[in-house]
Amino acid sequence: MINKKHQLGFFPTPLHKLSNLSKKYPDYSIYIKRDDQTGLASGGNKTRKLEYLIQQALDNKCDAVVTAGAQQSNHCRQTAAACAQVGLECHIIVKGCEPEVYQGNLLLSQLLGAKIHFTNDYAKEIDFEAYISHFDKGKKVYIVPIGGSNITGALGYVDAVGELKQQLREQNIQLDYVFIASSSGGTQAGIMLGMQLHDLDFELIPIKIDKDNGEQCTLAQDVLSIVKEGQKIVQLDKKFTLADIPINRNYNQKDYGIMTDNEISAINELALTEGILLDPVYTGRAFYGMLDCLKNNKLKPNSNVLFWHTGGLPALFDYANGLCKK
Ligand SMILES: *Cc1c(COP(=O)(O)O)cnc(C)c1O
Repeated sequence: MINKKHQLGFFPTPLHKLSNLSKKYPDYSIYIKRDDQTGLASGGNKTRKLEYLIQQALDNKCDAVVTAGAQQSNHCRQTAAACAQVGLECHIIVKGCEPEVYQGNLLLSQLLGAKIHFTNDYAKEIDFEAYISHFDKGKKVYIVPIGGSNITGALGYVDAVGELKQQLREQNIQLDYVFIASSSGGTQAGIMLGMQLHDLDFELIPIKIDKDNGEQCTLAQDVLSIVKEGQKIVQLDKKFTLADIPINRNYNQKDYGIMTDNEISAINELALTEGILLDPVYTGRAFYGMLDCLKNNKLKPNSNVLFWHTGGLPALFDYANGLCKK
């Protein structure tokens, strides 16, 4: 890889079999890739992206980083931790109003020293420059896009595919399917580029997390534009078009962040069979999609299926009301 990265996490993350779940669905061997265990202030997929993004902020001699997200943004929490580790000032623009009690990721971001700015408006697009103009004028600010999803961040997942390939070889596994939660698209774009670059083949099933907004699917566009930019860096000739961007839109009927019985049942099932925790926003939704495919024979029998766990644990605490069964 041409770009440098700054180590923030512990890699490789474990790849292991879900033996109990595989017994429950005997037509399949089910595996999990533990990017919930990247180690950066409780981990998650943003750690891999931030290794490249933070390096770029350091290379550009920036003093501060600004990023944005939802109140329970795992991305903002990991960005705050990364900034604390390398000594950069961290600003987080959070959608909506300041809550009475900080919980889950928001609490952790604050503990990690981020300066938190509330937009007081959920719908409005975030204008980074407008916020930066209020920061200390002498500071050079590095903007990390929402979800860390640009080509720089996606390089983390190009590498992750190389890491996965090595583990599959060591454990003698040939994957047929990989499920992943897809929201701002950088993870998916990185994996797609990585599959090409590292010559690793499987059917990628990205479960779209955000609700569809009309007929057009901006996620596919976003993924495609990152992939196209990435092709130049990793020197791939394949011509990608929208038709090459897989997206499963069967499980995003409810808005982003709305936990339904689907997510609750998925969280319960993995917790009770394997003792592994999912999150209510991303991995709960994506894992539900995978379980639905397993239960309803939507995958070919005797196949090897991987769930790529992307983290999100702290958000559970903000959903205690919906999750707590007394
Ligand atoms: C951000 C996030 C995702 C989605 O990754 P994108 O690169 O934004 O598509 C999935 N799972 C968790 C837990 C996340 O925090």
